Amino acid sequence: MTKWVYRFGGGEAEGRSADVERLGGKGANLAEMASLGLPVPPGLTIVAEACAFYFDNDKALPEELKAQVLEGIAAMEELTGRTFGGHPKPLLLSIRSGARASMPGMMDTVLNLGLNDETVQALGHDAGDARFAWDSYRRFIQMYADVVMGLDHEVFEEILEDEKARFGHEYDTDLSAVEWQHVVGIYKQMIEEELGESFPQDPHVQLWGAIAAVFSSWMNPRAKTYRTLHRIPEEWGTAVNVQAMVFGNLGSSSATGVAFTRNPSTGERALYGEFLVNAQGEDVVAGIRTPQSITEEGRLASGSEKPSMEKLMPEAFAEFKEICGRLEAHYRDMQDLEFTVERGKLWMLQTRSGKRTTRAAMKIAVDMVAEGLITEEEAVCRIEPPSLDQLLHPTIDPRVERHVIGSGLPASPGAATGEVVFTAEEAVQAEAEGRKVILVRIETSPEDIHGMHAAEGILTTRGGMTSHAAVVARGMGIPCVVGAGSMRVDMRNEVLIGVAGMTLKRGDTITIDGSSGQVLEGAVPMIQPELSGDFGKLMAWADKCRRMTVRTNADTPQDARAARSFGAEGIGLCRTEHMFFEGDRIQVMREMILAEDEGGRRAALAKLLPMQRSDFVELFSIMHGLPVTIRLLDPPLHEFLPKTEAEIADVAKAMGMSPAFLARRIDAIHEFNPMLGHRGCRLAISYPEIAEMQARAIFEAAVEAAKVTGEPVELEIMVPLVSLRTELDYVKDVIDRVAEDVAKESGTPIHYLVGTMIELPRAAIRAHVIAETAEFFSFGTNDLTQTTFGISRDDAAAFIPTYQRKGIIEHDPFISLDFDGVGELIRLAAERGRKARNDLKLGICGEHGGDPASIHFCEDSGLDYVSCSPFRVPIARLAAAQAAIGKRTGDPL
Ligand code: ADP
Ligand code: MG
Ligand code: MG
Repeated sequence: MTKWVYRFGGGEAEGRSADVERLGGKGANLAEMASLGLPVPPGLTIVAEACAFYFDNDKALPEELKAQVLEGIAAMEELTGRTFGGHPKPLLLSIRSGARASMPGMMDTVLNLGLNDETVQALGHDAGDARFAWDSYRRFIQMYADVVMGLDHEVFEEILEDEKARFGHEYDTDLSAVEWQHVVGIYKQMIEEELGESFPQDPHVQLWGAIAAVFSSWMNPRAKTYRTLHRIPEEWGTAVNVQAMVFGNLGSSSATGVAFTRNPSTGERALYGEFLVNAQGEDVVAGIRTPQSITEEGRLASGSEKPSMEKLMPEAFAEFKEICGRLEAHYRDMQDLEFTVERGKLWMLQTRSGKRTTRAAMKIAVDMVAEGLITEEEAVCRIEPPSLDQLLHPTIDPRVERHVIGSGLPASPGAATGEVVFTAEEAVQAEAEGRKVILVRIETSPEDIHGMHAAEGILTTRGGMTSHAAVVARGMGIPCVVGAGSMRVDMRNEVLIGVAGMTLKRGDTITIDGSSGQVLEGAVPMIQPELSGDFGKLMAWADKCRRMTVRTNADTPQDARAARSFGAEGIGLCRTEHMFFEGDRIQVMREMILAEDEGGRRAALAKLLPMQRSDFVELFSIMHGLPVTIRLLDPPLHEFLPKTEAEIADVAKAMGMSPAFLARRIDAIHEFNPMLGHRGCRLAISYPEIAEMQARAIFEAAVEAAKVTGEPVELEIMVPLVSLRTELDYVKDVIDRVAEDVAKESGTPIHYLVGTMIELPRAAIRAHVIAETAEFFSFGTNDLTQTTFGISRDDAAAFIPTYQRKGIIEHDPFISLDFDGVGELIRLAAERGRKARNDLKLGICGEHGGDPASIHFCEDSGLDYVSCSPFRVPIARLAAAQAAIGKRTGDPL
């Protein structure tokens, strides 16, 4: 017999939080809470495997499963003393989705299932509150019709608005039993009119309908989008939780709410949450009424008049607070909780590790080490390396005067400037056109995800810190301000109205400050973030854990300085060609390339020498004795050549040639396949005087910089695009000769290594031979990927997306290292190279050097360092630490 169903409730549970793969996050944690003896309404979880069965079998469920669900419901009846679909105490159920990874709001929930025209009477009787029973019934019809029958909930909201206006009420809670009964009648009629079928009265029909709908919701478009964005595999499927209802809408001593055990935006150690009195389920998230703070502290901070739960329901609050502490200690992480109070009695409905901003994650991890809850290593593993990007966001310069046009809640930190747009589609469109926008909405919903992703920042005029916009923006690391009640969005006229009637049209520029909640007019000067404090502490722990060093790819003093401030421990790749594009250098470079003979080339190179030398002096001085890898000229020469007629005329004049003659020389240099053409070491072999000049510039600069800083430069000269050892031998000879000359001229001995990039399959395969000459290897994974696949990186965009869509490849190999092919070559080259020379230095300098998964691979392959762009240095430091910890503990992160 397959065990399809796991029960929980009454102080025990069949599952545990470790069963998350089968039970989904929600089910596993409900089971865990029940087994800890916490007040959890009894229920059962249908395992996620049933989701696959459902889709594989034409949306049918196994008979065995059905029987187990009914047995589980019987157990719930026993525990609650109620009967499903019966009298005098009807048992109502909630049907909840719950996948392995949390997908907040992506899938559907149905509450109050089991109500019909008869049980609604019994429920009212039993509770002694008919208003409550009819309120629950109308909620159920609305959710069930939406989720199961496919009738948009907006039609019900319209009816409700109309009826409320007719009765003269402002809030839903103002409606009486009779009035709700009336609304229910209209709802049912509407369903018949719209769908041609009536609302199902049989609770068992309702039950299986809702379970099927939850499984189906796994494949709804928003869930699919969410999975793609978060790389959640479709095979996982969702589990379904069937749970006895408890009621937050049973009058003024009842409530429903959500909370975080610490502040999810700042990480501050303080219970943080919102609740609504006499409400149910998703009222809190939906922003129908503005929720109240659960703590007094929170209420005071928000300046709200509405009483806190702490004041209003002191006993339930005290118990809740105690449970929060227990759960946090149990899971050793900040928890995100959902609860309901039914007539003063607290019920726990959900717990999970809470989503948080990176800043909060950092603070929580650092604080928890101080509290003795977790170790430094665990703290290092708690931060997702790519999320560090969030901390590198700019903030508004505090010295500038702010023209505040509105304010709301600071939902996701960082500041952003952009043009106002009012729909997700416009945001996506603008991003495609390269424009920066702020998405302005009354509130957001899962349908807006694409637009939120495309925007620089998000502003809503409604909703709290746990509203959809807030949660999603924090997850994406996008600055966000929510609930800007002092502002108004007029969708019809497409304007945003700020304080004092200030009106902004579509396309006007605003700035939002997700850290203060302010909305500002126009663009505002920003400053770079502070990298000390918790960030500094955590990065220092990471540095203690890691084995590989982290270098940067830097061609300019600016890059080098930024990288050092981010903790780079050297330069892994300095592309010298970038130095030839600036100002009038390109002109001299063109003269060199187009010269008719060696004499002409040498004359131009003599002009380039002092320029290149001064660049190196500056770079070496910034790096102050750290290793610097300089690559000799690499790209095909045509990249430097004049293209327009005017450019050609200029160069011709400078060289004393006729433009027509020059044009013919340019033609002669043309290559059919420049990426595989006359480039890399092939240039140095054809024109050794180029390599000579570069080597001289490097050595002379090293001598000079050492005098300035007092630290000898750790020089590594890298010869690109080598496939034969003889190529490297030839170029190394040139370099060695220049080194000897410069040493003699300056009277200073010069230390340096000569090595190569491994970027051609032949070089990888013949690594043991090449390593006889090469003193280091740097894996140039961009070119190595190009040449291994035979795919031109510059042309890959034409078909890689098609490949991905058709399932031919999963990831773009230029973004995520192809471990099986390119990776195999790296492993092989590392191994063979080290066999020939056991102190061979190994590093990676392709784009992949900043990609966490690739960094794990580098750790496994025994590389000495990774090198990446300056802004990715902190990410690489953290990923390298996690890789080392993972390797040591045998726990692949
Ligand atoms: P989500 O995935 O959107 O968090 P949930 O399954 O947690 O969906 O349900 C949403 C809300 O419905 C919960 O926060 C809770 O307020 C309410 N809810 C769910 N189950 C019950 C229950 N058994 N009794 C009362 N309310 C419930
Ligand atoms: Mg849901
Ligand atoms: Mg929930």
